[in-house]
Amino acid sequence: RAKTLGKARTETFDPSMHGHAMARLQIEIDLRKALERQELRVFYQPIVSLKTGKITGFEALVRWQHPTSGMIPPIKFIPVAEETGLICAIGWWVLQQACQQTRYWQERFPSEPPLTISVNVSGKQFTQSNLIEQVDRILQETGLAPTSLKLEITESVLVENAEAAAAVICQLRAMGIQFSIDDFGTGYSSLSYLHRLPIDTLKIDRSFVNNVDCEPEKIEIIRTIVALAWNLGMNVVAEGVETKTQMYQLQALKSEYGQGYFFSKPTDSEAVEALLMTQPDWEQDLRAMAQSVQ
Ligand code: C2E
Ligand code: MG
Ligand code: MG
Ligand code: MG
Repeated sequence: RAKTLGKARTETFDPSMHGHAMARLQIEIDLRKALERQELRVFYQPIVSLKTGKITGFEALVRWQHPTSGMIPPIKFIPVAEETGLICAIGWWVLQQACQQTRYWQERFPSEPPLTISVNVSGKQFTQSNLIEQVDRILQETGLAPTSLKLEITESVLVENAEAAAAVICQLRAMGIQFSIDDFGTGYSSLSYLHRLPIDTLKIDRSFVNNVDCEPEKIEIIRTIVALAWNLGMNVVAEGVETKTQMYQLQALKSEYGQGYFFSKPTDSEAVEALLMTQPDWEQDLRAMAQSVQ
């Protein structure tokens, strides 16, 4: 049996491999080794102020540089990592890398406030009893200020484990760490938790942002989420901004921040540094538009 597994190991993502369960098992075996072999990478995608055009921070997004299958996107391995619990080890590693990288960028590219880093946290990590110690340890080790860190969670984390999640969020928030609700509008849409928890940001799911210029009902959904956030004293990030028209539309809808391929795809740290050294066209465009409507 071991021999079969060993042989199949290099064929993880070969579509000819039969059997869903077998494929999953193979990913699990590979994934365990990927951590030790340092095959995981953190990519970064800018989050842009739609008022000033400035990059205010980044979202950290994990990738797997597989020795034979190339760069594997998270959709292909995060679900397996969730099922097997490996997501915790991966998640802490990503947090460590992202905090360390951001601390370095804050020194090299100073701004006021300093660049922030948004890191996805899975439901599994959220139920770990040592979550607060882990976060605290990583901040200590990397020297990143807690106010520079934003943790992204999905609505399901809040709904499935409401009491425990609330306690953890309140403790981390008291340390200065901020919280964002990821993919807002696609989950349970149970609004009851929003006013009870110290959430800072709603990230409007890209399914509402995408094609906002073609589908008028999406405008109404975004308008509603922006109003909700405003009323609750929260910020809004529009995910999945792909075109200049969408960028202007979200600015007009008073979404405070934008994120998406129009600004930049998630990239490695070198490409991020190149971006931070230039003045992108969108910065001028957003500022000019903001002034002209005043
Ligand atoms: P997410 O947290 O909602 O991240 C945003 C996803 O949207 C990223 O996909 C990003 O590349 C993609 N995206 C950004 N702008 C655009 C755009 O303009 N158009 C389109 N079509 N897509 C855009 P990615 O990197 O493939 O990540 C997918 C998901 O995997 C993430 O969704 C997140 O749920 C999960 N993930 C990624 N890294 C981690 C991690 O370190 N830990 C955990 N727990 N989950 C992670
Ligand atoms: Mg996210
Ligand atoms: Mg999202
Ligand atoms: Mg998502």
